[in-house]
Amino acid sequence: MKKKTMAWETIKKISDHFRVQPNLSDYDLTCAEFSWENIRKELDGLPDGKGLNIAHEAVDRHANGPLRGHLALRWLGENDTVLDFTYGDLQEQSNRFANVLQNLGVKKGERVSVLTGRLPQLYIAALGTWKTLGVFCPLFAAFGPEPIYQRLQRGDVKVLVTTERLYRKKVIDLKNRLPKLEHILFVDEVENAGEGLWSMTKMMAEASGEFTIPPTDPEDMAALHFTSGTTGMPKGAIHVHNAVLIHYMTGKYIMDFHRDDIFWCTADPGWVTGTSYGIISPLLHGITNIVDEADFNAERWYKILDKQKVSVWYTAPTAIRRLMRMSTEPRQLHDLTNLRLIHSVGEPLNPEAVIWGRDLLGLPIHDNWWQTETGGIMISNFPSMDIRPGSMGRPLPGIEAAIVSRVAEDKVQVVQERNVEGELALRPGWPSMFRGYLHDEERYRSCFTDGWYLTGDLARRDNDGYFWFVGRADDIIKTSGHMVGPFEVESGLMEHHAVAEAGVIGKPHPMIGQVVMAFVSLKPGFEPSDELRRELIGFAREKLGSAVAPKEIKFQGNLPKNKAGKIMRRLLKARELGLPEGDISTLEEER
Ligand code: AMP
Repeated sequence: MKKKTMAWETIKKISDHFRVQPNLSDYDLTCAEFSWENIRKELDGLPDGKGLNIAHEAVDRHANGPLRGHLALRWLGENDTVLDFTYGDLQEQSNRFANVLQNLGVKKGERVSVLTGRLPQLYIAALGTWKTLGVFCPLFAAFGPEPIYQRLQRGDVKVLVTTERLYRKKVIDLKNRLPKLEHILFVDEVENAGEGLWSMTKMMAEASGEFTIPPTDPEDMAALHFTSGTTGMPKGAIHVHNAVLIHYMTGKYIMDFHRDDIFWCTADPGWVTGTSYGIISPLLHGITNIVDEADFNAERWYKILDKQKVSVWYTAPTAIRRLMRMSTEPRQLHDLTNLRLIHSVGEPLNPEAVIWGRDLLGLPIHDNWWQTETGGIMISNFPSMDIRPGSMGRPLPGIEAAIVSRVAEDKVQVVQERNVEGELALRPGWPSMFRGYLHDEERYRSCFTDGWYLTGDLARRDNDGYFWFVGRADDIIKTSGHMVGPFEVESGLMEHHAVAEAGVIGKPHPMIGQVVMAFVSLKPGFEPSDELRRELIGFAREKLGSAVAPKEIKFQGNLPKNKAGKIMRRLLKARELGLPEGDISTLEEER
């Protein structure tokens, strides 16, 4: 289907707009001269040629040099406590944690999960895990027990770092079902916690602050990030130490980090953005990284931008739309003159938001695109490039992106014509590309066809090479920037004794992108009622957590199914939104 390019005015960039000269000033030239070998040369590598390790590049190489005393991480507590960590502090603390893991017998490739919310210990645990060649597997604190169980179990997690409160609320009842989870480390002060339960604080205090990172193959596994699918439970995308090349390169060319920058990424490390850009990328560049423990609050956010003198800010469309909805008063109270660049990711950024940024914050917002599987930004509106509001931008140097259409089971064709919709595809081989789904080789292979990695997103490319997001090719839901798999929600609902069947869709929402909505058919003997609806929502929230549970439930006698008995979510959605039903030849006759 051919589409017209949106008529929003391009935001022209001229060199007078830049307070500092961008690291990438000529996109075409940089693309032409680009090589990953040259990027690799800008990193250190472990001493004596012993490989490439994320924690060495992010922390030790700065701590061993002139940046030792530089502020690496400033943590802002919910109750206004501020904790500062220099590169020297991060080195020592992560060394201690690495020794704790070694003392517990954690070996190369074994998984260490963190479920704490944004506490300083999360950052220290991630860095310490990379030092020991363990695998960092973060968990979002707003998950309920079931999503936590799925991830700990599928990830064969050996060590969990958590708080006593989260443990009692979400983990304690899962323990018997997780025989591979050997150690639980509490970040709080706990005495005699019990078998397999430890005080991380105490162990850290007793451990040595010295640690030598073992030789690290760039292909050694570093992180496991779970992402949702449409047909099954979440899958663990495997990432390796070599991904650090992308984290460094995008920090340089997209975040445009310069020595004195103060960076704030609002994403939670429970999601890939919060790890790649909330931990790794700023530290690689030896700058100051702000971490806020609290959730979104407009006044707080403006205050942070102002008081912390944030110069580069990475946030998400849902948050921007929330700010847009507010009165301009809190904005007027704050000085944002230190801000130099604003970036957004995770869901479509509407053109109005880009313009709002320019008019209200004094800077347009740069949209960029990537996903858990890509490990880092792939397509972006670069700081020095004209912005087309509503577009995701152009591919990174070293990244080949295309719009393809499937012509046979194992064959795709690149769509040469411009402004035509198709699936967004990337040429495999970039350093941060996922290396597999844990224990699911077949699913991994199915992501690649005919020499392309197929992203599952529909998009189009305009005459100047800018990519425009169209939608997902599958049923995956994006709510508040978080990916939710309908299958996971349906399975959760089905555990309620009144539910016979459930079909879950993402229903468009002006603020949070999509809301999770469920259609439920009841077992004989149960009647639809508001009370039962409330009970089901409460049940799902308890089990799945607020990040995953449906916000809306509709009762329906029978759910539409195809001839193989699968619920047709596409049809549920079309009917709910009053859209054409499309091809219903596979629909089983509805009774
Ligand atoms: P995740 O793996 O959770 O990071 O989600 C990745 C998905 O989020 C992509 O495949 C897209 O569907 C969506 N996404 C990410 N960035 C953008 C963007 N800039 N515009 C539109 N959709 C986006």
